[in-house]
Amino acid sequence: MKIESLNPFILHVPVTGDGIADSTHQITHWGAPGVVIRADDGLCGYGYTGTHGHLATDRLIVDCVAGAYAPLLIGEDPSDVEGLWSMLCHHPPIQWVGRCGITHLALSAVDIALWDLKAKAAGVPLWRLLRGDPEKRVEAYNTDGGWLNWSLERLVEDARCYVEDKKFRGVKIKVGSDDLDRDLDRVEAVRRAIGPRTKLMVDANGKWDMATALRADRRLRQLDVYWMEEPLWYDDLGGHAKLAQETRTPIALGEQLYGLDHFRSFIDAGAVWFVQPDVVRLGGITEWRRVAHLALERGLPIAPHVGDMMQVHLHLAIAHGSCDILEHVPWMRGCFEEPATVEEGYFVIPEKPGASTILREDAMEEFNVL
Ligand code: MG
Repeated sequence: MKIESLNPFILHVPVTGDGIADSTHQITHWGAPGVVIRADDGLCGYGYTGTHGHLATDRLIVDCVAGAYAPLLIGEDPSDVEGLWSMLCHHPPIQWVGRCGITHLALSAVDIALWDLKAKAAGVPLWRLLRGDPEKRVEAYNTDGGWLNWSLERLVEDARCYVEDKKFRGVKIKVGSDDLDRDLDRVEAVRRAIGPRTKLMVDANGKWDMATALRADRRLRQLDVYWMEEPLWYDDLGGHAKLAQETRTPIALGEQLYGLDHFRSFIDAGAVWFVQPDVVRLGGITEWRRVAHLALERGLPIAPHVGDMMQVHLHLAIAHGSCDILEHVPWMRGCFEEPATVEEGYFVIPEKPGASTILREDAMEEFNVL
């Protein structure tokens, strides 16, 4: 089998309601710049990354796929995914301009498409190709509900409904606004609404400073918050390491980290307790598995970020011993032929060959902005 063509696309899919806000971002659309890789036997692999739907930067990502990676891949055997990953990642002119950022988001899309293709060629779901456990239970927690632009009433009602319906086993609430007391009042109201048994997480999206994080921790620990996510600026290794020693609330981070070395630094420094790699940011499935192996070695749980809209991470969670929990955000459910589905708090095991990344033709027509 040989790679015959790479066809890029950019989807911009509306988010819930009129838009959502956390402490750092306000968005109306989720972006999925990606690529369909076609082999000479007719099989196609679908891969994509995740963005905030900004067309100018999304174009840079697909330009990198089409202009830099495609010429290196045409005619190659797609089954050697890890070999191709090394070739692309370490190609000197590409490495010179980027070992993170746009080149890595583009690499993620390519790598995911290649793994999708490989699993399809084997006729099995990706988790089976990776020797996953068909009995694995992956619990779901909801993030699409804790937005800072939601009223307290809406926030509480939404969380209560999900828990009463037994849809999710946890909820995550955004914090990091310029009013910490208001943020913590909202967390407390949600804890009251969902009771003591449902997991409750908070996410500051890198907004707090050390003093604010320590002050927040004093109330969060009383509310039995399962983790505080990205409390400090994403790259602040020393700050997170120091905070981890001072706080009682476990620290989760990783959605903004770009590779194994980056994760190793945070893990070695004791700066992270829940590791959150995102397959669409750190170069795809190949590098995600290396991060997951490292976490397993160090006895740290993996809780992937939802940049892939749960499709690929579900396969990886089934296949990896360090991952038992997945974030849920439904924005792209209608775009996939086999969308990730939650029943009574747990994800349904996907059964179609591939990585569940096949995009529906009608979604490709409706949302493609390239
Ligand atoms: Mg987050």
